Amino acid sequence: MGSTGDDEVYVTVSALEGGQLTLPERLFITDADPEKRATVPSLSFLIQHPSQDRKTTRLVFDLGLKRDLTKYPPAQQAHIANRQPTILHPDCADCLRGGGLDPAKDIDIVILSHVHWDHEGTPEDFSNAQFVVGSGTLHLLANGAGSHYPKAIFNPDLLPRDRTSELPPVSKSATTAADKQTKHEWKPFAGFPATVDFFGDGSVYVVDSPGHLFGHVNLLARIAPQKWVYLGGDCCHDPRILTGEKDVALYDDGHGGLRSVHVDTDVAKETLKRIGPLLKSPTPALEGHNEVEVIVAHDKPWREKNLHRFFPGKL
Ligand SMILES: [Zn+2]
Repeated sequence: MGSTGDDEVYVTVSALEGGQLTLPERLFITDADPEKRATVPSLSFLIQHPSQDRKTTRLVFDLGLKRDLTKYPPAQQAHIANRQPTILHPDCADCLRGGGLDPAKDIDIVILSHVHWDHEGTPEDFSNAQFVVGSGTLHLLANGAGSHYPKAIFNPDLLPRDRTSELPPVSKSATTAADKQTKHEWKPFAGFPATVDFFGDGSVYVVDSPGHLFGHVNLLARIAPQKWVYLGGDCCHDPRILTGEKDVALYDDGHGGLRSVHVDTDVAKETLKRIGPLLKSPTPALEGHNEVEVIVAHDKPWREKNLHRFFPGKL
């Protein structure tokens, strides 16, 4: 970790365990085995940023599953019953402690890709952190959204009110004085129409990645002069969708129509079209000879091949 004489700043990224859940393949990819279920991780990540005064700013992206399933609202627990078996340890806090960090003291920022139950984790563990979420997240937590996302599955008090900020809406017309105050301005970068240069030094970008759930965001982090990591959250649940080998599955929505795991399938596919080109080496989306490793949250083979890159290991 460190900056160079060229003023370029790089971050250190480590994978964190966030527990595991069991998903039926047919809900996620086309041409799936109708019976196949897999117990998959919900990956979280620690990003260490070399800030001024030699202080390291530590950011955690996504918190995985809660280790105590009884802390979910009853309606959410009913859904989780269909996602068994789950693995609840190690969770994010366990994994950070295992590498010598105290989640309560040492984590400065938590960014959630979105507030599905298997990403929200246990925010109470991070009592010193500022929480940052995508636009619309707080409204979703308070009100739910439509029949697939009823209010009853969300906890309006999930995030600490005094330590949580929402990124501004992407649409320019919505820019307000309050948005400017946060210094978080959406700008195009790396083939994406809307990104926020989070630390203002080109090391970590929050990427607006709509379609999966309201407020869904990804991170693009620079770990070396020509090496980047793209943390894709739930942009898709199987990297073969990014390569075009598979497509987003559609299934009966219970109301005579079809749905996918994404709140807006067409928008989610537009987002995937922007992420896909990052896989090319060198990626055409960035100037120069840059390589990007794309990691989605539920990628079981990635976890199995990369156990050495979990904290205190690094990418
Ligand atoms: Zn999700």
